[in-house]
Amino acid sequence: GTLGWRRWGRGGEAWFPLRLPSGRRVKAGCEERPQAQRFLMLARRSAEYERELRDQSVRLNTELVQANETLQMLNRHIEHNALHDALTGIGNRRMMTQYFGRAEQSDNSANEIAALLIDLDGFKSINDRFGHATGDEVIKVISERLRTLLLDQELLVRMGGDEFLVASTVRTDQGELTKLAQDILDRINQPIDLPGDQGAVGASIGISVTRIRPNLERSLLQAADEAMYAAKRSGRNQAFMEPLPAKTG
Ligand code: GH3
Ligand code: MG
Repeated sequence: GTLGWRRWGRGGEAWFPLRLPSGRRVKAGCEERPQAQRFLMLARRSAEYERELRDQSVRLNTELVQANETLQMLNRHIEHNALHDALTGIGNRRMMTQYFGRAEQSDNSANEIAALLIDLDGFKSINDRFGHATGDEVIKVISERLRTLLLDQELLVRMGGDEFLVASTVRTDQGELTKLAQDILDRINQPIDLPGDQGAVGASIGISVTRIRPNLERSLLQAADEAMYAAKRSGRNQAFMEPLPAKTG
């Protein structure tokens, strides 16, 4: 039948296809018919609601999974931004501090740490002649060049402006560092394409080495800074090492 009842039993008696809550079956023609019809309608509606709820819960769950993925992605971005320089994608000062901290904590054989502070020479004039955007491009090119010179356990960060720092626990003796500084200068000095021109940039490098110990950052950077300014003062595009000012290159 259209309302969902069927012919049931013998003698062509019509029964509703369900029992009342009391457990009784209902004959189609009996006086309980309106009650049974109503009950049948409610049962159908309840089944519909149940389906809807299930669908909705599936949708909500999908949305929740997506929201969670978005959140995790944002978290990864935030973590990445906290440790990386926005212009070049290499590390920033916070990553440097993390590197020093890890060096302190690790009980590997390394007992010294070296810093090479690299400041481009006359960078302001590139900005002045070619504009800030070209200056940015030069900073990116230089950071890419520096990156290729590093070993796995070494670190490159942009300290800000035209200043970079290389930190190493694996190359710490004077010979290795002198060689590394010279490689850095050679790489930096290679021609750079500038709008309508081919230029070259120089850099002054200050090197310092210290025994790995707690709170080494300040004195290590101070020594590298002094060495770097000594390199600037005595003509630029060269490396100096602190505390013994050993000119290299
Ligand atoms: P020096 O040889 O003594 O190092 O002089 P310099 O011209 O390189 O100037 P200095 O190192 O004292 O200062 C760096 C300049 O770099 C200052 C600023 O004009 C410029 N600068 C700093 N940050 C940025 C940047 O993100 N993009 C660009 N294009 N320029 C920057
Ligand atoms: Mg500079």
